[in-house]
Amino acid sequence: MENILFETTSLCPACFEVIEAQYKVIDNKVYFCKACPQHGYFQTLFWADADLFQKWTRQSVHADRFVAGTKKEKGCPFDCGLCNEHEGGVCTAVLEVTYRCNLACNICFADTEKAQFDPTLDEIKTMYETAQKYGGDCSIQISGGEPTVREDLEDVLRMGKQMGFSHIQVNTNGVRLAAESDYAQKLKAAGADLIYLQFDGANDAIYEKIRGKKLLDVKKQAIENCRRAQIGVLLVPTVIPNVNLDHLGQIIAFAKENMPVVKGVHFQPVSYFGRFDTVSPTDEERCSLSDVMHELEKQTDGEMKIKHFVPRKRYDAHCAFSSLFYLSEQGRLHAITEEEQNAKAPEHRAFEKKANAFTNAYWRISAEEQESNGVSEEMRKFKNRLKNYTLAVSGMGFQDVWNIDISRLRGCCVQVISNQGSAIALCAFHVTDQEGKRLYENR
Ligand SMILES: [Zn+2]
Repeated sequence: MENILFETTSLCPACFEVIEAQYKVIDNKVYFCKACPQHGYFQTLFWADADLFQKWTRQSVHADRFVAGTKKEKGCPFDCGLCNEHEGGVCTAVLEVTYRCNLACNICFADTEKAQFDPTLDEIKTMYETAQKYGGDCSIQISGGEPTVREDLEDVLRMGKQMGFSHIQVNTNGVRLAAESDYAQKLKAAGADLIYLQFDGANDAIYEKIRGKKLLDVKKQAIENCRRAQIGVLLVPTVIPNVNLDHLGQIIAFAKENMPVVKGVHFQPVSYFGRFDTVSPTDEERCSLSDVMHELEKQTDGEMKIKHFVPRKRYDAHCAFSSLFYLSEQGRLHAITEEEQNAKAPEHRAFEKKANAFTNAYWRISAEEQESNGVSEEMRKFKNRLKNYTLAVSGMGFQDVWNIDISRLRGCCVQVISNQGSAIALCAFHVTDQEGKRLYENR
């Protein structure tokens, strides 16, 4: 049985022309389907759980934008800057401060081949200004390449803080954090608020497959150095079927063991950029946010359930999920977030969730763990623990040329800031055709 859910537009993987596309249900799975008059039909598995896909379909709520965009010329996705067709602002600005890296991973989508020249500090200042123009005090992610190969990374961080950004995270593989025991402290002193640590799994077979070498000890040492420097770590696994999709529970267990320095886990299902020798990646090579949520429910011994995950605020519902869990002294996670049964306006829901998160978590654990005497003392202890032992579990699915949905792209609020001063939706920025040709160049 085949059923079209809704229509949108996409790109042809061969010629980059804008073409019509549909989300279709086939055997209770959602496929992204499109046809180019010249290059034929393309069909890609999108979400393996069609019911969940439909349940999660909601009107988009966009991030605030602080100035109008530039004039539309060729139309989305060719005028990113942001253009005035774009529907949101910037919630996370990605600043690529180098194109060099100290690892060479086969799945990396940073363009490290033309890696000779790093942006200057003046160019980085322009990037910060662009982020501020479109996103105000948005979250800044210092990325690359591998940002820690820059000897002046601390200057980059200090500049961001001086310009008024309240949250700056450093996206790193952890190699330098592990090698230099005082490096985490230096980054923190310069203004880093969070280490966004690539962390694909809690066993070395996974690193050998994805990154070409054993890295678990490096990750552990990096985390230990962050713990001593008291800077929080977000673990960021790239999730790949037949590599680590079966090990998500192990990653959550590792995160629990390493709280409170580990603040959360951010899963990113693999997406495909660069040159493809075959026509396209197969459905077996793909996983989606719905698979991640299903596997988390399966692999965490009942601690996580699909109903604990909610579409992330300010994102298209099919781009990202988020959730919060409290870790009890007995070492079990208790959900703070939970999907609402009754449909309310999303903004109302978000507010209500925030207001209720604390009491919900309290009452949820109270049944099994609270002593009957001394509620206020208990409450005080609990509050203190809740502050340090809350784990944020989230996921974000990036689009590639096979599943890029231009209407989702138009609402995107994760932008790469180019050194020419434009803000380009992250998925448009990294997208390549099947020959590996990029839609955007950053230099
Ligand atoms: Zn075509």
